[in-house]
Amino acid sequence: MKTVYLDYAATTPLDERIAPLILREMAHPANASSVHQTGQRARGRLEEARTGLAALLGLPPDQVVFTSSATEANNLALRGFCEATSRPVKILTSQLEHSCIRSTAERLADRGAAELQLMAVGEDGRARLPETTDASLICLMAAQNETGVIQDLEGARRLAENSGALWHCDITQYFGVEPLNVPELGAGLVSFSAHKIYGPQGIGCLAGPGLKRIAPQLTGGPQEGEHRAGTQPVALIEGFVEAAKLAVAERSQRRSHLRALESLLLGRLREAGLPFFHNGGNGARLPGFLNLSFPGFTGADLVIALDARGFSVSAGSACATGVMETSPALAAMFSQDPTRAEGALRITPGKDTPVEAMESFADVLIQLVSRPNKA
Ligand code: PLP
Repeated sequence: MKTVYLDYAATTPLDERIAPLILREMAHPANASSVHQTGQRARGRLEEARTGLAALLGLPPDQVVFTSSATEANNLALRGFCEATSRPVKILTSQLEHSCIRSTAERLADRGAAELQLMAVGEDGRARLPETTDASLICLMAAQNETGVIQDLEGARRLAENSGALWHCDITQYFGVEPLNVPELGAGLVSFSAHKIYGPQGIGCLAGPGLKRIAPQLTGGPQEGEHRAGTQPVALIEGFVEAAKLAVAERSQRRSHLRALESLLLGRLREAGLPFFHNGGNGARLPGFLNLSFPGFTGADLVIALDARGFSVSAGSACATGVMETSPALAAMFSQDPTRAEGALRITPGKDTPVEAMESFADVLIQLVSRPNKA
């Protein structure tokens, strides 16, 4: 049975146009810190890639630091800021953030390195920014990774500007999908990774003028402007930057394709007259990013039933050590109705998902949810 992958928010396959470039470059020895010509060639490639990515972000090249992932970039931002800032460090954030922000912030708070101020979350999937803040760090992501809901970015820019706080914005799901220029966005730091934009796994970045306000967390050599020690994986970085360039160049065609797939599925569900909730579906949202709940079904049961029929999607809750754990983001959105979070199914097609695949997914999903509690 051929599997239909509809979980592109989790990870994307490597773009076929990029794989040969990475393999070719990996065949060369490439330590960009070596003084010999081979090392200098690697350094040239590395800096060319950095300049390319910086241009896409609207930043100078020395404001881009490569890391192994968005998780590492987010850890570097939070831990690095707490280390470099005199206490108390107040962090304004919310339950919507990815676990690599949430749990890092909680750990910092547990050891007294930070104090957390949690914003309320509305049913619309947006964090409610306060009018003013005495926090020194604001962590508000650009688009939420379970619902695709775009946050109040203009509000965060104003709040950071008026309060002098550093705004760290996780753009992992947002980059390449929405137009972006970091100085216009107003974030002091942004983070994202290659494997969400058809680039290789194992490479990400932290970028922005706020780098000067953080202490390095991996220490050793002077790589990455002394923000992050360790020999740079030059071929992966080149693959990352190529993926970023393609995402920006092909943005409008990818968006229209995703919107078409999304309308197809929503249209079929409505036609079938089935009751369902479109979580976070009423405001600005990334194209092709669907979070749906079907009354009477848990997301986890549907994921298993769909998997057995050849469709890979994900749920808003996961089975951790035998206990169902609901996603904190969805739990915060639906604190009045926990079944809505437990029922959540995340469907995220990709740029190459065929229309026919979405049609057969719609057929199977409708069949499953037309038989209450028999997923
Ligand atoms: N931030 C967001 C919003 C994400 O969606 C993810 C991955 O799902 C991450 C961070 C972590 O990214 P990485 O897998 O590169 O560590």
